[in-house]
Amino acid sequence: MNQMETVKLVVVGSTAIDNIETPWAKRKNLLGGSASYACAAASFFTSVGMVGVVGEDFPPEYMDLYRRFGINLEGLQVKPGRTFRWAGAYEENMDERRTLLTELNVFATFRPELPPSYRAAPFLFLGNISPDLQAHVLDQVRRPRFIVVDTMDLWITMAVETLRAVIGRVDLLTLNESEARHLSGKHSLIKASRRLLDLGPKYVLIKKGEHGSVLFSREGMFLMPAFPLEDVQDPTGAGDAFAGGFVGSLAAGGRVSEGAIRKAMLYGSVIASFGVEAFSLDRLAALTIQDVEERASLFRNMCRVR
Ligand code: AMP
Repeated sequence: MNQMETVKLVVVGSTAIDNIETPWAKRKNLLGGSASYACAAASFFTSVGMVGVVGEDFPPEYMDLYRRFGINLEGLQVKPGRTFRWAGAYEENMDERRTLLTELNVFATFRPELPPSYRAAPFLFLGNISPDLQAHVLDQVRRPRFIVVDTMDLWITMAVETLRAVIGRVDLLTLNESEARHLSGKHSLIKASRRLLDLGPKYVLIKKGEHGSVLFSREGMFLMPAFPLEDVQDPTGAGDAFAGGFVGSLAAGGRVSEGAIRKAMLYGSVIASFGVEAFSLDRLAALTIQDVEERASLFRNMCRVR
């Protein structure tokens, strides 16, 4: 995206420095955070603006990388102090993960402020940050066409009432299956989605990792598998890349319909599958839209029934 282009999609979320351990590798000081993954993924489809905060220690090469993705950075605050830090370790199955460290740093006092140029953007993605901050962003926007919110276990435990209120103000809630069960108190995902739809959104999009995703609405459901991969290097941020690719694709089309949502789920899955092939944003940084289209067409063929 050209920095002067009008922002069609605003993404709010965390910008982080991550340390990641897998059974095979240990990597330090990686660029991470929900907003980083979501913006990078969305940038393949639409003009995206980031709202977040970093500290003065944030490496200039990571800022350059954001720019190379064409992400508009007017909404990214640089504050005295250290950037948010997070460390996680994956189990042998590369699915279960332990959090080793969460250091809020500049995040502790963060108040997201939308630059005037972002306020009329038609699409908004509230990535994983505290529901309080998500609500503060909702108070600043001018009736976007479509709002998507993501969350995590931490907020379901710590701030469930604020989270419920936020969910009531958006069009689509996305979360992973264990979070859907936790938030709804229901094990069956069909029952869970019904409870979550009762909070107010038109759609609930449940992410199931390597088993794909399911979209629920009052009208029914739609199933999307995950693109099969032989080797996964680092699953961190897969959900954020999926969501970023999903909303980015919707924003590119402009109109939200059942068909557009299904197509966006396909592109979200494709982008997420590339993302996990390397640590941090490394694979996405080397990716072209032709690579994305090629895999999307391969994937369509894998899913076709007649
Ligand atoms: P995911 O794998 O989709 O859960 O996203 C992982 C990213 O979320 C990592 O890059 C972390 O920096 C970031 N993260 C971890 N914990 C939090 C938190 N409490 N709030 C915001 N972002 C977080």
